[in-house]
Amino acid sequence: MSSGPRVLAIANQKGGVGKTTTAVNLATALAACKKRVLIIDMDPQGNASTGLGVAPDRRARSIYHVLMDGTPVKDVVIETAVPGMAVVPSGVDLSGAELELVNADRREYRLRDGLESLFGDYDYVLIDCPPALGLLTLNAFVASDAVLVPLQAEFYALEGLSHLLRTVERVKRGLNPKLEIQGIVLTMFDRRNNLCDMVAEDVRKHLGDVVYETMIPRNVRVSEAPSHGKPVLLYDMKCAGSQSYIRLAGEILRREKGSAVPGSGIPHSS
Ligand code: ADP
Ligand code: MG
Repeated sequence: MSSGPRVLAIANQKGGVGKTTTAVNLATALAACKKRVLIIDMDPQGNASTGLGVAPDRRARSIYHVLMDGTPVKDVVIETAVPGMAVVPSGVDLSGAELELVNADRREYRLRDGLESLFGDYDYVLIDCPPALGLLTLNAFVASDAVLVPLQAEFYALEGLSHLLRTVERVKRGLNPKLEIQGIVLTMFDRRNNLCDMVAEDVRKHLGDVVYETMIPRNVRVSEAPSHGKPVLLYDMKCAGSQSYIRLAGEILRREKGSAVPGSGIPHSS
């Protein structure tokens, strides 16, 4: 039996590619598979917190206090409407943390230190990263076992990805030797759009097995759910978006049971 949770950073420095949607709904699908899951909202925008129905007045104690005051993660956890799934909310002050961390002690290890209090409480911790490769995302990478990358199926999909993968490599060499790539998931896929097909084919050709077979379709129910403060799996379990996140969770669990994703196959062209 392994002991600590498996910690996954959901990261891509591009905004609007489906990080938050993937964090919230993959977490829900994992919880539906009887896994105990914690989502950490590391984005000052707080979209994951909002999307899970955590009102701003319940964010007085947030991930900010973990990063800046050394508050144990355990003390800022909020249960969600999904059984077995909890969230550590973002807070308004988090936007300042990026700068405040610059002169802090152990500035890249703050989140990892805070997570130590969780030992044994969760099977998975999913960290919803902000759209940047600054100190907040670096804290997520140092605290994680692996990085899961949502990639929007669009013309510029691969642009920026090599920078992200190089950053992961750099963290692996310096700050966190165990860090690996969990996988890449294509999001907002539209099968009526030929360009989407071409991009998906191109991404698979370049990156191989590290790209999940499951693709997340563009689906209006997925985009409606956050305004109801719910994961799409609670809002409309039968819709194509919900079903795709259930498949993604299944694929991730199957791969973890087998061997690790062959991350060595990732090219590092710039
Ligand atoms: P990020 O966290 O990377 O900035 P989000 O997950 O917030 O991206 O997604 C950006 C926007 O796209 C949001 O409005 C979200 O509701 C919408 N969206 C994400 N995934 C889908 C999808 N599969 N189908 C339709 N809309 C989506
Ligand atoms: Mg987001």
